[in-house]
Formats: sequence, structure tokens, C-alpha cells
Amino acid sequence: MISIRHLHKTFTNPDGSRITVLKDVNCEIERGEVISIIGPSGTGKSTLLRAINMLEPPTGGEIWVDGENILAKGYPLDKLRQKMGMVFQSFNLFEHLTVLENIIYAPVRLRHIPEEEARKEAMELLSKVGLAQKADVYPSALSGGQKQRVAIARSLAMHPEVILFDEPTSALDPTMVGEVLSVIRQLAKDGLTMLIVTHEMRFARDVSTRVFFMNEGILYEDGTPGQIFEHPVHSATKAFVNRIQKLVFDIDSKDYDYLGIQTAVKRFCIKYNLGAKEDVISEVAEEMLFTHLKDIRPLTFRLTHAALSGETALDFMVEGATASPLPQGPAMDGIRAKAQQVLEEPTTRGFRVKVLV
Ligand code: ADP
Ligand code: MG
Repeated sequence: MISIRHLHKTFTNPDGSRITVLKDVNCEIERGEVISIIGPSGTGKSTLLRAINMLEPPTGGEIWVDGENILAKGYPLDKLRQKMGMVFQSFNLFEHLTVLENIIYAPVRLRHIPEEEARKEAMELLSKVGLAQKADVYPSALSGGQKQRVAIARSLAMHPEVILFDEPTSALDPTMVGEVLSVIRQLAKDGLTMLIVTHEMRFARDVSTRVFFMNEGILYEDGTPGQIFEHPVHSATKAFVNRIQKLVFDIDSKDYDYLGIQTAVKRFCIKYNLGAKEDVISEVAEEMLFTHLKDIRPLTFRLTHAALSGETALDFMVEGATASPLPQGPAMDGIRAKAQQVLEEPTTRGFRVKVLV
């Protein structure tokens, strides 16, 4: 359906300096595929999507869509825009139009659908994204997750052959990420062709037919989710998909800044979408620091989260220790009941208690 050959994009800055953002990108996309594009920020993922739908015309290479070269002189861009929907991080709804008016705007003007018919279909699309009851409100009355679902319905109203999503959940409060991802999951089940730039690794693994890992302006690795996430060929891919988020505190005196730790833990949970684990993380941290390990100083407390495996751990490390600092007997029963596992293990530099939650 889409064939990208030797795609290049060089931006020229106002001061005349140049930056090459896409360096020879090649790929073939079949109808019905769901492709997640992952990779560090600044590596050209957005630029690639914007090149594919000509919001940002490439400076070299070819893009073929349904057998036609869209970079050829005279190729009608309105035809391309009808084939390709785009959903942005920041929704881009018309704030002065109601939800329903947002959805029928383009079908009535560009597809020349009679208004009555467009309204009827818009209501069906709103039901599909779970927002039929919001048809007559203005976007300002919606949450971020609801706005993004409206943006998806609006895109579907044009009957696109493919939808390009550029980090559709990155601007959302973590509590709303799930509702948007489940709408996209449903579209994947319906067989819609999609290209999705995302940082949600588990979503990418579960929903995609293929995953592109972009790095430094090239399509570094391209494979099934199994290949990219379990058996990546390149070390850069492996490092990216297995990266672990960390928060580390060195606690060396009795009057350390516990409130500061608590606030940082809370922020970490929001940032990495750990809302469901937040309470148990705070409770375990508090009980360990205030009760079981209160006399052990210095102590290093580390919170880690691996996005792909979903493993979250609280590590308490005591340098130089040779035995577990934990009390024996029933004192730890509360924590053991809350945690998935409590491991006590010697390390090269001391002793570590690892609480998996
Ligand atoms: P990603 O989406 O992977 O984070 P982008 O495609 O947004 O990356 O950007 C890749 C690089 O291109 C960045 O260094 C960015 O600063 C640069 N870039 C993007 N758009 C422009 C532009 N319009 N003018 C100049 N540089 C740009
Ligand atoms: Mg981007």
C-alpha cells in the first residue's frame, strides 16, 4: 500500500545551517498492518509521519501510495489527505465547534456528504469511541482522553485507508492513556491500517503486526514485535526496548528529606504510568524506611521500573553488609503480603533487599 524508498529530509535553518533528519529510510507497508514506530526522541519519527502525508515534503527519495508516486508533480494532495488521517499528540480540535460539528466538518465540506447523513455517521463513530453522550458539548468541556477519542472519530469520518498517529497518548494524564489505547486496539482488530509513533512499549508489543525502531534518522531495525522486543539484532534496539527507569536516593542521616522522597516517588509513578501501584510503592517505602531499616544508615533506596516487562522494584542497599538487615519472624509479614516477592541477596558491594511490587 505504501512504499518508501531512500527517503531523505534535510531542514535548512534560518541561519542557513542544515540538519538532515531522515537519512535513507526504506520500508514497505501492506494494507491492514499496524506498525508501531519507536525510538529515542529527536530521531525523526514525527518527521517521517509528516513526510508520508506531505505536511513536510521530503527532500529526496520516493513515496508510493497505492501504486502512485505522491512526490510526482501534479499528484493531487487532497486525494492523499483523504486516504490518510492523522492524529496528533495535541488533539487539534476546533474549539468553537461542538464535538459533532468537529466530526462532520470535513466530510460535509470535502467529501460533500449531505449533512443529515454525516450527522448520523458521526453519532455512530462517537458510539464507537464511547462518547455518544458528548455530541453537543464543546471540546473545552472534555478531558484530554475524551478529546483524543473525538479526534480519532473525526479522522475516521473521512474513511481513511490509513491513519497516522503521532504519540497519541503523550499529552494525556496517565489515567486517560488506557481509554485511548483501547480505542486504537479496537481499530486494529477492525483491520484498519495504522502507523503509530508511541512510547507505550507494551501496547506496541501487543497491538502491532510490525515494529520499526528508528534511531538517528534511519529505520534501524524492522521486525515483528517478537523480534524487536525479545530478539533484537542490534544492540541499540536492545538497549532501547529494555531500558529501565530509575530513581535513586542516598539516605545517610536520621533526618533525611522523607517528604522529598515521597514527592519524587509520586512524580515517578505519574510519569511512568504506575498509578495502580502507587499506593503499594509508598506504603512499602514508608514501612521499610521508618520501621524495618530505620537504624540502617547509610542506606541507598532505589525505585526501578522496566516498561516492557512491567516489573517494578524497590531496592534497599546496604554497603558493606554481609547479612540481611531485615528483622526475622513475623515483622515483615505485612510487606510480604503486599509485595509480589521479597528477595534478600548479597551483592558485590554489600547486601540488597529487593521488593517486587
Ligand atoms: P522525533 O519525533 O523522533 O522526536 P522529530 O522528527 O520531531 O523527532 O525531529 C527530528 C529532528 O528534526 C530534531 O532534531 C528536530 O529538532 C528537527 N526538526 C524537526 N522539525 C524541524 C523543522 N521544521 N525545522 C528544523 N528542524 C526540525
Ligand atoms: Mg515526535
